[in-house]
Amino acid sequence: MRLILPTLLLIFWSINGSADHHTEPSKISANNLSDMVKVMASDEFQGRAPGTPGEDKTVAYLIAQMKKIGLVPGGAEGSWTQAVPMMRSEVKPSAKMSFSSADTVLTLAQGTSVSVDTATALTNIVATDIPVVFVGFGANAPEQDWDDYGEIDLTGKLAIFLVNDPDFAAEPKEAVAGRFGNRRMTYYGRWAYKFEEAARRGALGALVIHETEAAGYDWSVAAAGAGENVSLANKDPKALPVTLQGWLHNDAAQELLAAAGHDLDALRNTARQPEFQAFELEGIRFDADLEVKITTFDSQNVLGLLPGNERPDEVIIASAHWDAYGIGAPDEQGRTVRAGANDDALGSAGILELARVIKAQPAMARSALFAFWTAEEAGLVGSMAYAADPIFPIEKTVANFTLDILQTAGAAKDVILVGKGQSDLEDDLARAAKAAGRYVTEENLPENGLFYRADHFSMARVGVPVLLMMGIAGGADLVVGGREAGNQWIADYIGNCYHKPCDAWSPDWDLTGAVQDIELFRQLITELGGTTRWPAWKPGSEFKATREQSASLRQ
Ligand SMILES: [Zn+2]
Repeated sequence: MRLILPTLLLIFWSINGSADHHTEPSKISANNLSDMVKVMASDEFQGRAPGTPGEDKTVAYLIAQMKKIGLVPGGAEGSWTQAVPMMRSEVKPSAKMSFSSADTVLTLAQGTSVSVDTATALTNIVATDIPVVFVGFGANAPEQDWDDYGEIDLTGKLAIFLVNDPDFAAEPKEAVAGRFGNRRMTYYGRWAYKFEEAARRGALGALVIHETEAAGYDWSVAAAGAGENVSLANKDPKALPVTLQGWLHNDAAQELLAAAGHDLDALRNTARQPEFQAFELEGIRFDADLEVKITTFDSQNVLGLLPGNERPDEVIIASAHWDAYGIGAPDEQGRTVRAGANDDALGSAGILELARVIKAQPAMARSALFAFWTAEEAGLVGSMAYAADPIFPIEKTVANFTLDILQTAGAAKDVILVGKGQSDLEDDLARAAKAAGRYVTEENLPENGLFYRADHFSMARVGVPVLLMMGIAGGADLVVGGREAGNQWIADYIGNCYHKPCDAWSPDWDLTGAVQDIELFRQLITELGGTTRWPAWKPGSEFKATREQSASLRQ
């Protein structure tokens, strides 16, 4: 017995590693990850809300770490940062909105029957006698030979959309089945696409009819923070948003369509027929009178570069978001700081570890840009700002690797793939995983469209092939406890911690699985950094045409 106890202790120390902070230059270190998260998720950093003192601390910390690693500034004009001017708009509670027909008025209550906000800088929005158009799923997908709009003119009108994409609820024998990824959500299913398409067509507003299953979340989520919007302040004039955007509660939508002589359930069927065309709701008008409080503030993306030694103009981006939810209401333990330890201080720490290890390796031919985006939680604002005004040209941006939430439950036999069928980076991932004795599992709820909901998507949208590691995309097949344990970890994290004070640093995290996932990224980045290969989107991807267009600029 006397011999066994010290041996066990020794094993404990070497596994836990807490007695030994020497890190190997060539290895992603769980201790380093934990140490960095502990700092960024501390009370001192105040939950890292953009535009607060927590931002200043975070930005300074990230820059200091990158200097220590030996990166050079990768931001604007030789600095470590890129300015992201932000705007917050809040629709005041006095808002009035209604639909009317010849004999009825349907009054819309903010938070109950609608959840409407604006991403414009207008402080007073008055709309009178606005025609209303039902656009079905509102998809204009030339690569699928699908167009819900036909000849209809949306200028100055309110567009009403169904959520998700046309084949979400289709039976296998229907003509539409499989054209929009079946249950898997395509970009056409996201509300962001619908708002953009309405804006491109000059609509005054866009409302999406909420359905829990097809949206992926219930009304309380859709209505949380109703009236509030945080967005980029100086928007591209070519891409101005609709004046009003948001959700329409299913009950209100049913009433609205009944008043126009239609049945919502029947329309859901009609809208997934290839011959469906948008139509104006006869005799229906929309009115709105809203006052909006606008405030502006400045935030920053943080960027460090490891220049390539042969083709430094070809850039691979590894990124995470530095922001979290700031300070909020106290939880049962009295904690108010929503530290975002896992989401996404851990991802940010992962990017710093990638930088450290890749810097210690033989130099790559291509450059690596390590990016820390602001305001992901407000709607991918920092990464969208970069994509709109990139420091390094998009056509020579090789790929983007994003870390956003990593599982902390230990080693896994598999790695979770988000957005199957999108680009050939998934084949690289499968190969690297196999070499590491692991295998690839597809995300468990592709219908939720996670592929369109993290910062990597900002890069995809401008055509850059992407890969995302997201610990909540599907339960991992854990070495201890299998899939069941992996699913349980997600259920616990989402149920208790996600976006709450409970998302705090813990000495009990087992970061072995996180290290495994980051290591896969290290390998893929290193490989790409040494080749002349340009990863490509797969046929059928919504982003293939965009990339091919920008690739023609690559000379
Ligand atoms: Zn996140």
